[in-house]
Amino acid sequence: MIPDPLPTLSRVFGFPAFRGVQEDVVARVLAGERTLGVMPTGAGKSLCYQLPSVMLEGTCVVVSPLIALMHDQLRAAEAVGIRAATLTSADQNRAESIARFRAGELDLLYIAPERASTGHFRELLASAPLSLFAIDEAHCVSEWGHDFRPDYRLLAPLMDAFPDVPRLALTATADAHTRSDILQQLGIPQDGLIVSGFDRPNIRYAISPKANTTKQIADVIAATPGPGIVYAQTRAATEKLAEALGRSGRPTRAYHAGLDPHIRQKNQADFVASEDMVICATVAFGMGIDKPDVRFVAHAGLPKSIEAYYQETGRAGRDGDPAVAHLFWGAEDFARARQRIGEVEPDRQAGERTRLAALGALVETAGCRRRILLKHFGEDRHEDCGNCDNCLGSPDAVDATETARKFLSAV
Ligand code: ADP
Ligand code: MG
Repeated sequence: MIPDPLPTLSRVFGFPAFRGVQEDVVARVLAGERTLGVMPTGAGKSLCYQLPSVMLEGTCVVVSPLIALMHDQLRAAEAVGIRAATLTSADQNRAESIARFRAGELDLLYIAPERASTGHFRELLASAPLSLFAIDEAHCVSEWGHDFRPDYRLLAPLMDAFPDVPRLALTATADAHTRSDILQQLGIPQDGLIVSGFDRPNIRYAISPKANTTKQIADVIAATPGPGIVYAQTRAATEKLAEALGRSGRPTRAYHAGLDPHIRQKNQADFVASEDMVICATVAFGMGIDKPDVRFVAHAGLPKSIEAYYQETGRAGRDGDPAVAHLFWGAEDFARARQRIGEVEPDRQAGERTRLAALGALVETAGCRRRILLKHFGEDRHEDCGNCDNCLGSPDAVDATETARKFLSAV
């Protein structure tokens, strides 16, 4: 008999119901079955292991790629009374966390993937009661994914040493190829795959060639009240844009890893609290930030991949109200991307080239953007969406196609 998770959902998390496929994922986890959940950003992936971690005996070991992200998760878990700890090089209280872990006093233990390689860590796991392995951002295990991290390859051998502990892999962004690779790499059966719908119908997609990018983004800002994120490709660009766009009168800040930590944190906190702020950021911004009322995301240049585009635009409109995602791209973006591909290891170049071509097809199309986007994630749509620039008859559409074709022919 699998225990009913609903009472815990409401008592611990304060939610009256599961969202989407959360229920199916949690049911499999509680039944001890290996599972891969593919759910868009904001769908509530964390709950899929946090809830079982409270219900099951022992500790759920969570693998997460970024220390900053882990600490956000830790705070959120502790805020609802979950007994959690992180085990990273940045933690001063490691000895205490290890003692709590061994004593079975933790629901969650967050670790970075590189821990997995040490024999020492394997011994530690063997000395504590385990309930579950949760692998967040699981696409990092696949070379087909958009963010391959070699350390993720160490996780399968580690988990294999504990064959009775169930496994839950989670990712927001994986195309069909990447999904089957994740299943194989992490030893999860085909029928353990649970995919939720990817459509974000309240987000209006628009994609235009760059002309005067600052002016184009200023127009998006002027037309869109409410908080917004402008993604730029370099730290210098975020600062320059913040300065130029701030002249419109909307409060505008920059955010990137090179800022003084106090300023960076303040800019982030002010943005989260604000109802009209524009933040000009590198793509690191947004991970782990829970701000439901972002009304627009503008890209001042080509994102890294369709997965990255989907993830970054997905930070808009999490409250379900209308939101806009406007991407501005130029020939030089494709040139730079091609150059970058030339620099990666030879056996990864084909995959990277396929990824760039997919992005090219998205910017090139004169048809429905959403159909292309959803098709990329394995969802076939027969109807046009009526809520993207092409469906709405943007005057840019024809030009964009011409320009894109010229530069894509060389991809
Ligand atoms: P993801 O990792 O999939 O991007 P998160 O786990 O960060 O998403 O969750 C996004 C937000 O959704 C969080 O604020 C979380 O509290 C909320 N959430 C998760 N599950 C539910 C639910 N069943 N009902 C209401 N809100 C939920
Ligand atoms: Mg998450």
